[in-house]
Amino acid sequence: MTDTIYLDDLPDAVVVVGHDGVVTYVNRATERLAKAGGDQLRERRLDDVLPLLDGAGNAWWACSSRLRRLPGVRRIPARELQLVLGSRVVPVELAATFLRGPQGEFLEALCVLRDDSARRRGDVTRAELISTLAHELRSPLTSVKGFTSTLLHRWDRFPDDQKRFMLATVNDDADRVTRLINELLDVSRIEAGRLELRRRPVDLPKVAADVVERFKLNPDGHTFAVSFPDDFPEVYADADKVAQVLTNLVENAVKYSDGGMVRVSGEVADGSVEVVVGDQGIGIPADQIPLIFTKFYRRGGRGAPSGTGLGLYIARGLVEAHGGRISVESEVGRGTDVRFRLPLSGPGGAGE
Ligand code: ADP
Repeated sequence: MTDTIYLDDLPDAVVVVGHDGVVTYVNRATERLAKAGGDQLRERRLDDVLPLLDGAGNAWWACSSRLRRLPGVRRIPARELQLVLGSRVVPVELAATFLRGPQGEFLEALCVLRDDSARRRGDVTRAELISTLAHELRSPLTSVKGFTSTLLHRWDRFPDDQKRFMLATVNDDADRVTRLINELLDVSRIEAGRLELRRRPVDLPKVAADVVERFKLNPDGHTFAVSFPDDFPEVYADADKVAQVLTNLVENAVKYSDGGMVRVSGEVADGSVEVVVGDQGIGIPADQIPLIFTKFYRRGGRGAPSGTGLGLYIARGLVEAHGGRISVESEVGRGTDVRFRLPLSGPGGAGE
């Protein structure tokens, strides 16, 4: 029973219901939600002490009896219900697991209820997220709108080189918007496990050189070095996705360093290839390294370069979709190496 002590520390309400619909366990969060002591809730019917109704007013426990009888059903995906406590109606999200015996017979339902406060916490982060994305979309559009309207209205007043500069900026910023939208689409594909790879033999040194070439166009005080051994093998991979991983990593190397050298190097290591993107930038504190691959994680602080916190999340998703691994070594104030490994073998090979 000591394990249940941990359940008492959970922010979400946990309720265990036996096959007869009687509550056998509630944690502290359930007591807070129901505004009742555990002994007023346990050993009583769920429908009496914690009535959960769907949008049409049907009791969830009764409605789910068919699912409880189906031996294959173990997880009930989260759904919105109303917890009716006298005159108080609390909207909750319920997720449940059906615990079953060896023959698949229903034993107990382990239910987790999240009330509005938990969901409001989620809404705040969602609101922050929308504002970050809106900002990221708006800033390139500002120059697109500004320069195009300037050119439309005062075409004759600018010399050619200035017009060219404005059009080049518009062009770059339109690319930025497209990239951001593609990133968002990638995130949803990675999350849904629907990332499709079009694998073919890829000349990785060539892909790396092409990516770096694009950054050389706007050098920003950096120098670039690309080094791969001459006999570097072709990798069976999706060239566009590998280019995207490299773009995200080189972009970070440039963004989080104040000039200096950005290196892209490759080597062959038993059955796989390894590529390292290194910089001489600000580095990442050791305790933050596990976080930087998570979705929307950004190390904030004033003066931090703009971004969405998606670059490394996507890079990891793409590398892992290839059966590879990505990792980071960094020293604050000295620089960061991000390395990723891709299996060498083609279809049917040992690493597939
Ligand atoms: P973004 O750059 O949009 O914030 P990323 O997912 O690419 O998102 O990176 C997440 C965080 O990891 C960044 O906010 C940054 O703090 C840190 N980071 C990534 N790459 C580097 C790097 N090469 N050097 C220092 N910090 C980095």
